[in-house]
Amino acid sequence: MKEGEEVGLIVQKFGGTSVGSVERILNVAECVKEEKRRGNNVVVVVSAMGKTTDQLVSLAKEISSEPSKREMDMLLTTGEQTTIALLAMALNQKGFEAESFTGWQAGIITEPVHGNARITKINTDAIESKLSKGKIVIVAGFQGITEEGAITTLGRGGSDTTAVALAAALNADRCDIYTDVTGVFTTDPRYVKNARKLHDISYDEMLELANLGAGVLHPRAVEFAKNYQVQLEVRSSMEKIEGTVIKEEAVVEQNLIVRGVAFEDEITRVTVLGLTNSLTSLSTIFTTLAEHHINVDIIIQSITEAETTNLSFSIKTEDLNTTLKVLEEHKALLNYEGIDAENHLSKVSIVGSGMISNPGVAAKMFEVLAEKQIQVKMVSTSEIKVSVVVNEVDMIKAVEALHDSFGLSESK
Ligand code: ADP
Ligand code: ASP
Ligand code: MG
Repeated sequence: MKEGEEVGLIVQKFGGTSVGSVERILNVAECVKEEKRRGNNVVVVVSAMGKTTDQLVSLAKEISSEPSKREMDMLLTTGEQTTIALLAMALNQKGFEAESFTGWQAGIITEPVHGNARITKINTDAIESKLSKGKIVIVAGFQGITEEGAITTLGRGGSDTTAVALAAALNADRCDIYTDVTGVFTTDPRYVKNARKLHDISYDEMLELANLGAGVLHPRAVEFAKNYQVQLEVRSSMEKIEGTVIKEEAVVEQNLIVRGVAFEDEITRVTVLGLTNSLTSLSTIFTTLAEHHINVDIIIQSITEAETTNLSFSIKTEDLNTTLKVLEEHKALLNYEGIDAENHLSKVSIVGSGMISNPGVAAKMFEVLAEKQIQVKMVSTSEIKVSVVVNEVDMIKAVEALHDSFGLSESK
């Protein structure tokens, strides 16, 4: 770096696979070293090694079917703590000054919610003091602490959010998300061979894709990036090639209306039968479910003049037991005759900003699905997406058909 030039600040994040073994951690240390050698200050955020978080969850389940959420957070945060110490050692070994920080040492404050807390504030003093001394700062992803001192986690995949939130709080020049794929693809490349890497994508499109099941980025990380205008790049930790840039305005290649296809399995459709047709019945039912933290997605109500009506809504299958319990407990208040639940469903969504000015996208989607004999069970639309609920067995077939029909597949 030339004299007088300002030192840049780069936040790098490495996910579970990228730190999955000693060898991989040494590879990460090389990546960090390179950035530091370019003259930049570096903050590194890491996940737990490989499948550690899953293994910790299984351990807890062996002890209790419903472990305390406080203790789950205590347990799961140990995963990331292992990685930060090992990476700091690897960098020290290579002759670089590096120090590791847990989420709470790094000043990451969250709301008082276990398992899925939002970051409310970051006190960056401790990190900044180390950076000013030229040290590499390594922060445990996915964890924080409440104002009251309870340890929390940010939800599965939450290390991305730690990285982007830190990049925003520290006013970093860039936030690079290193992972096990080479960028953001038109759909999950592990399931669809024809998936194509995108050169760039807008915050809004990425946010929809992430919320609709594209696990490559944690939705809240994209939300932070959009709100604080943090430019993100998703790239490979193994291959040194250009990744995908996520920014305000993306260049749309070949005028494609649809930019990506996302999907999510383990969806259940719940139908409330014979619900009394009153002005307040809908608000009562959804307020009751919300009070019990049940996230309702698509809602369908048939219009009828009769005294009772049927109401369907979709939820994550993991929430089914609680949903049934809540509905049963409040049966007298809610005033319905029966409940029906259909499992083994999936949601498939097409996303693209171009939809705003192009009518007929939903119609084409239904046509494509009908041609493949795929039954659509529920539909939901917004300005830049159309989602359908289909049988789980049809999920990948639907994704592939839509991916091809909307021109996203690699040209053969
Ligand atoms: P990390 O541990 O690095 O955070 P994740 O497993 O959370 O990695 O995210 C990377 C994975 O996201 C990929 O392996 C891929 O299977 C999945 N994925 C889902 N949708 C997409 C997409 N549209 N583009 C790229 N990867 C995707
Ligand atoms: N280790 C956590 C998980 O597996 C957080 C993360 O990797 O982002 O979900
Ligand atoms: Mg992830």
